[in-house]
Amino acid sequence: MQSTKPHFALLATPGMGHLIPFLELANRLVTHLTAKVTVFVVSGDHASISNSKLLKSPHPDLLDVVLLPPVDISNLPSDASVTLKVVVMMLESLPFVRSEIANMEFRPTALVVDMFGTDALGIADEFNMLKFTFIASNAWFFSVILYSSFIDRKEITEEHMKNHKPLKIPGCKSVEFQDTLEVFEMDPNDPLFEPYFELGVRMASTDGILVNSWDELEPITLKALKEDKKVPIYPIGPIVRPIDQQPGLGHDRVLNWLDKQPNGSVIYVSFGSGGTLSAQHVIELAWGLDHSQQRFVWVVRPPTENDASGSFFTAGNGSDGTPDYVPDGFFTRTQDRGLVVPMWAPQVEVLSHPSIGGFLTHGGWNSVMESIVNGVPMIAWPLYAEQKMNAAMLTEEIGASIRAKAAEVVGREEIESMVRRILVDKEGEPIRNRVKELKNSATKALSKGGCSSNSLSQVGEICIQHLKTKAYGA
Ligand code: UDP
Repeated sequence: MQSTKPHFALLATPGMGHLIPFLELANRLVTHLTAKVTVFVVSGDHASISNSKLLKSPHPDLLDVVLLPPVDISNLPSDASVTLKVVVMMLESLPFVRSEIANMEFRPTALVVDMFGTDALGIADEFNMLKFTFIASNAWFFSVILYSSFIDRKEITEEHMKNHKPLKIPGCKSVEFQDTLEVFEMDPNDPLFEPYFELGVRMASTDGILVNSWDELEPITLKALKEDKKVPIYPIGPIVRPIDQQPGLGHDRVLNWLDKQPNGSVIYVSFGSGGTLSAQHVIELAWGLDHSQQRFVWVVRPPTENDASGSFFTAGNGSDGTPDYVPDGFFTRTQDRGLVVPMWAPQVEVLSHPSIGGFLTHGGWNSVMESIVNGVPMIAWPLYAEQKMNAAMLTEEIGASIRAKAAEVVGREEIESMVRRILVDKEGEPIRNRVKELKNSATKALSKGGCSSNSLSQVGEICIQHLKTKAYGA
C-alpha cells in the first residue's frame, strides 16, 4: 500500500557547514510535515563523523541518517582545492545513492540536493521523484548562481571579471567586484569554472528552491526571484540547529565560563567550521582583542598561509592543546577576561548564552543565521566562498553587522575599534537594535502562519499531490 505521507531523501555534501543545515532541514521536515526523511551523508572525514552524535537521529521512527561509504580521492593532486575535492566526492558517491534509493521499500517522493549535488538529479528522474535544491545560504547568493546561467556571459567574464564592473543581477542588488564570489576570481581555464554556469540551468529544472532565508530578511531579492518565475522559490529559514539539551557533552568549560560574565559583555570570535587565518592575522587578532579591553571567547586554530579553509575536512575535532602561536604574554594579560578554545566550540550554545554581546565571524551563512536568531550583532570578516557577499549584504542592506575593511591584513587597531563598537560604543547601538528586530522577525517567520512556515507547508502539499498522482497513475 502507498503511504500518504511524503518521504524526502536529502543528500548532504561534505563539510560541517553543509551537513548541519541539512540535518536541521531534515528535522524540520519531520516536525513540521510529519514526513519521513532519509539523509544521505557524504563525508570527507569518515573516521570522526561516523562516531559523531550529529548522526544520531532525534526521531528514529521517521528520520534515518545514512553515512555513505568513504570514497577514494587519493588520485587528486595534493594541492587540489576544497571545492574540487567536494565535487569529486559527490560524483563518486552517486552509485551508492542510487543503489540505496533503488533498494528502498518506501521510495522517496522527493530528492533534495544542494549546489554540489545536482548530478544526483538524474536519479530522481529515474525513480519518478520530485526534485528540490536546498540553498543553505541566502537568496542573493542563489540569484547570482541562477542568473549567471541566463545573462550574457560577457557581462561576467569581460565586464565583471576583467574590468571589475559591478555584476548586475535582474531586480536584485548588484555585486561589487570587491565582494564577488570565489568562482569569479578564478582562472577561466580552471576545470570548475565552466560547470559553474550549468548550475543555474540545472536548478531551474527542479520543482523548487528551498532557501535558508525569509521574506522580511531579503524582501527585494525574494520578490525579484518570485516574479521572475524561472523556478519556484520557498524561503523556509532561518534553519538553525537548536541548542543541545543533553548535559555533560564537554561543552561545560566554555558555558561555565560564560555563566560568570555579565550579560552582553563577551565577543565570540570564530571563523566557521573550516576557516583559518594566516600567522600574521592571528597575531593582529590577539593584539586587537587584548587592546580592546573587552571580554572574549576565541576559537583558535593553527595558522595556515594561502588557504583560508585550512580546517575544512577536519572540522568538529576538538583539541585540548594550548595554542603556541599567539603573542608572548597574551594568556597572562587576558586571563581574567578571555577564554581561548582550541579548534571547536559549541557555537549554537555559546551564541544563545546571555553573556554574548557580539560575534566576530567569517560570515558563513549558518553562523549568520545562528547569530540573528539569538539577536547577536556581528563583525563580518569574510574569508572565502560567498562570504564577501554575505558581509556586504549584512552591513549595507540588512544593517546587522560592521565589516572589516578589505585589506591584505586586518590590523590590530581596526580589530580593537570594531570590537568596542559592536559591544559598547554608542555608534554600534543601531546595529544592536536592528539585530533584535531581526530576531523577532525570524521568530515570526517560523511561527504558525508565518511566511517560512507556510512555505514549508507548500512544499509538503506539492509532495502529497505527487504521491496521489503516482498512486492513481500506477
Ligand atoms: N561550528 C561550531 N563550532 C565551531 C565552528 C563552527 O559548532 O567551533 C558550526 C556553526 O555553528 C555552524 C557551522 O559549524 O553551524 C559552520 O557553518 P557556516 O556556514 O557558518 O560556515 P562554514 O563552516 O560553512 O564556512
